[in-house]
Amino acid sequence: MAKYIFVTGGVVSSLGKGIAASSIGLLLKSRGFRVTMQKFDPYINVDPGTMNPYQHGEVFVTQDGAETDLDLGHYERFIDENLTKDNNHTTGQIYESIINKERKGLFLGGTVQVVPHITNEIKQRITRLSSKQSLDVVISEIGGTVGDIEGQPFLEAIRQLRLDLGPKNVLYVHVTLVPFIPTSGEFKTKPTQHSVKELRTVGIQPDIIIARSLKRIPRSARDKISLFCSVETEAVIDAPDVKSIYMVPLNFHEQDLDKLITAKLGLPSNPIDLSAWRDFSQREEHRTEIVRIALVGKYTGLKDAYKSVLEALEHAAIAEGLKIDLVWVESSELNEDSLNKLYDVDGILVPGGFGTRGIEGKIKVARYARDKGKPYLGLCVGLQVAVIEYARDVCGLSDANSTEFNAETPHPVIDLMPEQKNVYRKGGTMRLGSYPCVLKPGSKAQSCYGKEVVFERHRHRYEVNPAYVEKLQASGLEVSGVSPDGLLVEIVELSKHPFFVATQFHPEFLSRPLNAHPLFATFIKEAHEYVLRAQIADSSTHKT
Ligand code: GLN
Repeated sequence: MAKYIFVTGGVVSSLGKGIAASSIGLLLKSRGFRVTMQKFDPYINVDPGTMNPYQHGEVFVTQDGAETDLDLGHYERFIDENLTKDNNHTTGQIYESIINKERKGLFLGGTVQVVPHITNEIKQRITRLSSKQSLDVVISEIGGTVGDIEGQPFLEAIRQLRLDLGPKNVLYVHVTLVPFIPTSGEFKTKPTQHSVKELRTVGIQPDIIIARSLKRIPRSARDKISLFCSVETEAVIDAPDVKSIYMVPLNFHEQDLDKLITAKLGLPSNPIDLSAWRDFSQREEHRTEIVRIALVGKYTGLKDAYKSVLEALEHAAIAEGLKIDLVWVESSELNEDSLNKLYDVDGILVPGGFGTRGIEGKIKVARYARDKGKPYLGLCVGLQVAVIEYARDVCGLSDANSTEFNAETPHPVIDLMPEQKNVYRKGGTMRLGSYPCVLKPGSKAQSCYGKEVVFERHRHRYEVNPAYVEKLQASGLEVSGVSPDGLLVEIVELSKHPFFVATQFHPEFLSRPLNAHPLFATFIKEAHEYVLRAQIADSSTHKT
């Protein structure tokens, strides 16, 4: 039978509960256990697909096409497993399934209530994963903060599970904040004490406390948390801010967190192998040369909105021994003058996006990259703007556009496919999840991947309009990846440009720390070459 670890959060949100949970996942996997992870989100939206990035950050897409919380991206990157729609659950989904059952009359005249109906549904979802696959440990993160009204049914369900499954099979990990008060020079444990008190009111006594803080907390603070919260001092884990999220598992391991968890759950004490992770962390630490990458979007500075893209850039840079200097470029404010901001960068990335705002700016950026021979990686809308730009400037279709941005365009080079035209519901109706892409032999894309067919994840409604493909190709835009039936354009590139590759899919979702995505890796390599070429050109001008 699988063991269950529940990760809750206290005091405030944004403590890095997802990273803490993922780090536990990685440590247990490195001890040879079969691990999976899931997230329970207490909001009423059925999924985050309809939410604004300001509210929710990136929407992470699983290979089976679920639009999920960005924490699933952390889980996949840390435990290196592909997760599915069964790994993210929301209050919206849980109520939806209970209400559907009620409408079918499946409750046989009974009153449907939060306890036991909603809590049973939650428990069933928690344990469902281990009935479908052989697992040793299931880690479930409960979104939100203890004390939130909407989180109550989830806490009640996990409380009941310890009773159902037995204390040796269930472990509660609570991630809290230990603030540092600079004026008194002290770490304060009171918020943690209150948060644990709040957990206890719903009947949960944590087994392990992960104390997040600005810097290392002294032993005395851990002793105090131990005393007031009834957790051994060894089970109060010191989790200070670190330079990189990838150091967190190593910090936990130094404090024997994995040993503690296996002992508490009665799991065998398999040896741990963290060598690959340590190597990666070393490489991350010892980078010197810098590559400047422009990220062109309308949520500038909002890291969560581009989480997987930023991580994929990091993985690629670490693999190349380079550091990224990220230059945020606000696409909705771009005019010819502010394009100068791009003069100093070595590579330009246009990530996915929805809606008209900032589109003309992105189109200008694509033209700039093409004109100046600057490495360009376009993702999803980043492909669409590259195609629009090419159609306008090279094919002579001056008003070319996507019907998403101008429904009346005379040249809809990007358009809805017929099957999307009668879809009026917003949630879950895009082309979502993993689809095959056939690569053109001899193309740059094919040489990056070194394969003939790849599977990549999608999240978009619009496609390159098949009616314009011939014209685009005849004018020199190379279509280097297509759907197996040849109808959908998946990748375009410019053969005469050092690196101009754009994909209709989102390669960022497949990048892993120890396995950088080939398109990102080549993009970073080419951006670095661009710096080197520029330096050589510069020194030869000085000589003359
Ligand atoms: N808005 C575009 C579409 O729906 C692109 C989406 C994206 O970049 N993910 O097709």
